[in-house]
Amino acid sequence: MTGDAVLILIVEDEPPIRRLLRTTLGAHDYRTVEAATGGEALTALRHHRPDLVLLDLGLPDMDGLGLIAKIRGSGPVPIVVLSSRGDEAAKVSALDLGADDYVTKPFGADELMARLRAALRHRLQQQGADRTFASDDLSVDLVRRLVKRGAEDVKLSPKEYDILEQLVIHAGKVLTHKHLLREVWRDDSVDPQYLRVYVRQLRQKIEADPSTPRHVLTEPGIGYRLV
Ligand code: CA
Repeated sequence: MTGDAVLILIVEDEPPIRRLLRTTLGAHDYRTVEAATGGEALTALRHHRPDLVLLDLGLPDMDGLGLIAKIRGSGPVPIVVLSSRGDEAAKVSALDLGADDYVTKPFGADELMARLRAALRHRLQQQGADRTFASDDLSVDLVRRLVKRGAEDVKLSPKEYDILEQLVIHAGKVLTHKHLLREVWRDDSVDPQYLRVYVRQLRQKIEADPSTPRHVLTEPGIGYRLV
């Protein structure tokens, strides 16, 4: 990213939604470039080198998931997917193929902006390899492997720590069950029920009120997100 306004590539075949996105993003000082098909998107990606791709999964010429794989193959640009309500399977596939996040249609401007900011921040974080996380009463230092709630040290089991480490590395981003099983258990065929058990234990230790978590949020049917 340069000092100029952030450039977002909008990939969406429906003109009214494209117009809405252009207006909303423009009002928040983002620059935009548009593509109505997967083919146009790949061309725009090469010519404009956007800072982020906002991608509708239902495109006329190409499967949206296939397009994610192609974009990912070309570089690390963040991808935020626009998906339909209830299509959890497509969201999970999109995330597993390398999309950073998703926004469900119909979306509110605030939610869209929050997702875009998180995806852009996440990318910067990865470039700078930020190894600490602090929010309210929770702080995590991945270099020293220290977790604190307020002034108190939190003792985590190795699995609990490994889960938290993944969430910190990808803070703000939703991580699929498969991602966490792959990174923590080294085996994504493990029953996600194990993950639920460990996340419950983790919340007992790091959340002020584990029944209404404020740090480790559940994305139903998809995974978890650290905020
Ligand atoms: Ca569409």
